Amino acid sequence: MQKAYKIRIKGIVQGVGFRPFIYKLAKEEKIKGIVLNDTEGVIIYAEPGSKPMDSFIEKIKKEKPPVSIIDSIEISEKNFEGYKTFSIEKSRLTDRRAAFIPPDISMCADCEEEFFSKADFRHHYPFITCINCGPRFSIIKDIPYDRINTAMDAFPMCSRCRTEYEDPENRRFHSQPNACSRCGPQLTLYDSNKNPIIDKDAGRIAEFTFNKLQNGSIVAIKGTGGYLLAVNAEDDDAIKRLRILKGRAFKPFALMCGAIDTIEDFLHVSEKEKELLLSRERPIVLLRIKKKKVSKLVAPGLTYLGVMLPYIPFQHHIFSLEKDMVLIMTSGNISEEPIAYDDEDAFGRLKNIADYFIAYNREITAPTDDSVMFAIGDEAYFIRRSRSFVPVPFKSVTSKKHLIATGGDIKNSFALAKEDIIILSQYLGDLAAPSGYELFDKMFHHFQHLYDFSPEAVIADMHPGYYTTKIADKLEAEGLKRINVQHHHAHIVSVMEEHKLNDEVIGISFDGTGYGTDGTLWGSEFLISTRRDFLRAAHFDCFPLPGGEKAIYDVWKTGISLLQKAFGNDIPLMSKENNKDIILDMIEKNINSPLACSIGRIFDGTAAILGISRSISAEAEAAMLLEEAAIKGCSEKIKKNAFVIPYSDSNTITVSTSALIKYIVETINKGYTIEETAFMFHASIARTTVEIAGILREKYSVNRIALCGGVFQNKLLLSLIRESLTNNKFDVFINNHAPLNDGSIALGQIAIGKSLL
Ligand code: ZN
Ligand code: ZN
Ligand code: FE
Repeated sequence: MQKAYKIRIKGIVQGVGFRPFIYKLAKEEKIKGIVLNDTEGVIIYAEPGSKPMDSFIEKIKKEKPPVSIIDSIEISEKNFEGYKTFSIEKSRLTDRRAAFIPPDISMCADCEEEFFSKADFRHHYPFITCINCGPRFSIIKDIPYDRINTAMDAFPMCSRCRTEYEDPENRRFHSQPNACSRCGPQLTLYDSNKNPIIDKDAGRIAEFTFNKLQNGSIVAIKGTGGYLLAVNAEDDDAIKRLRILKGRAFKPFALMCGAIDTIEDFLHVSEKEKELLLSRERPIVLLRIKKKKVSKLVAPGLTYLGVMLPYIPFQHHIFSLEKDMVLIMTSGNISEEPIAYDDEDAFGRLKNIADYFIAYNREITAPTDDSVMFAIGDEAYFIRRSRSFVPVPFKSVTSKKHLIATGGDIKNSFALAKEDIIILSQYLGDLAAPSGYELFDKMFHHFQHLYDFSPEAVIADMHPGYYTTKIADKLEAEGLKRINVQHHHAHIVSVMEEHKLNDEVIGISFDGTGYGTDGTLWGSEFLISTRRDFLRAAHFDCFPLPGGEKAIYDVWKTGISLLQKAFGNDIPLMSKENNKDIILDMIEKNINSPLACSIGRIFDGTAAILGISRSISAEAEAAMLLEEAAIKGCSEKIKKNAFVIPYSDSNTITVSTSALIKYIVETINKGYTIEETAFMFHASIARTTVEIAGILREKYSVNRIALCGGVFQNKLLLSLIRESLTNNKFDVFINNHAPLNDGSIALGQIAIGKSLL
């Protein structure tokens, strides 16, 4: 009998060349029938004759287009229709809208070849794309993902582009951003007063930009998800100027190189790191310096640099003019504000920073920053998850309700859950200023609109002062169910969600600060945790944080507080600090000095005690410099003899912060160098962590560990703890797809929400 099947494929299967792929595959496999898009994904009616379907299905899974992600394939038998050929049919609308929106993807090799081919009609056209590459998330306004629902709506295709668009054999079949210099978006080069200098001529714009960069100019270039500021990375004066104008004294700048060889020439690149650099997502990857090439001002005091390869045609174009050049490519913003992505806004905000602007006349509907990753061995970790990764969904268990989680106020991302997926928004930065609130509100609505989402419950942090908490208050007042989640519980459950862990874990969350259930600021948490609940099993001892959470920039204050706790008012090492007495007084009278047990703050304070940092200009600056010192002071002998910090044998174990600080001071007094002491500090925390984990394993019969929290961005600490836990036969899990820092809070929140509702 003639068999016929209906195959439903869900996932990121639209706008990525799925139908032409199925069309070609069906022809190869001699299958008759049709393929079409509907609002839920792709449907195939397949009539294989008397042959089995296995090889067809296997090939769909194995050979699928590069940008696509298959979430599920359902196969059911249907009536035989007797199709004569295999063809692509018109899209159908269903009443369900379960669209998966593809992320933005770097220029593919085929487009790159055409871009540089003089004979091609898109030679040097900066918006060359095909079904395998180009913008998606950053241009989409609505679903289904058709041209009229994107920012390409403003550009009717010329006949040549349309012919490609309508030809199933063509690489640009139904490629929504398809365009050429005759019909598509164009570049314009402006001076800082928005006077146009060169219009449309991409070749001349690239040369002009290259020359200006060589001469020390700062050029704002509109990229995929917003404006980037480009500066020659070997030009001290230009970088100094950029630092002053951007209000960024310390925070390292990301680099862009034209080729992997250039990167390998001055930075250490492992196989894994190379894979990340060359991946189509093209993230910024943190790499250790091998030899000096770029200015020290790129990342003052640090031996790691963040670097990426070009991902849009215009970046390739500039680097084709000088292959070995290294450019700073940093988000177009002032200090911690959101990236500028709207042209008017960019010209307003970046006017005093950039000497020139390269804009284009297509709207960015959702901004993204460059994603940032690092690798240890074979494992990759996120510091920032944005361009090219968002909005790829996290597959999850089915939720009955539409849930929305607002995340945390630092490095914010929010999350939506519907059916069996969770969507984590792009990195939205710190919600500390009106520009941050505005972007949050805008994206919060944009995502809900795109995913046809009507939230029934909202999940937020416990922190009474967070902007994200106020958003939840508002939604609760509108009648939504509301759940508050403890910050570190959310961190831990984000790991459980990623790794599909359903049983209890020992969650170790080493973090900046998060609001605790007892009103103190937590951040050195060992929580015996399920998805619904937790028990606080251990933490470091609390100390006062003079100035509170907002005073994280004055790390010297934390240093004094830690010394005061260990030694009383007669403090060693920092006794000459000018305003010491004011701080001691604040602590004594308990003025704006909330109690905290955050490891992040212990790192800050220790950096101050060791004289490495006093005041910082960027979050985690002191901790990064302390890590750098420790890398220099690293030795096997110290590692072996690492101090086990004394801890209480009480129901909730408390590790003595004072004993750690006393040990640091003693080490210095014994004549060890700052670097050696910094390493001892890391090694002691690592050793103590593993010892406590061992006690908790016995006490609660749990062998699974979930590591999380921003402090694990410290590569040395992460390696020490991870290695030792693994050697001690723990099953160790950590965020690999969501950021290690507060960028994963919303993922944890929503997973907790799912388990409670
Ligand atoms: Zn392409
Ligand atoms: Zn055209
Ligand atoms: Fe956190």
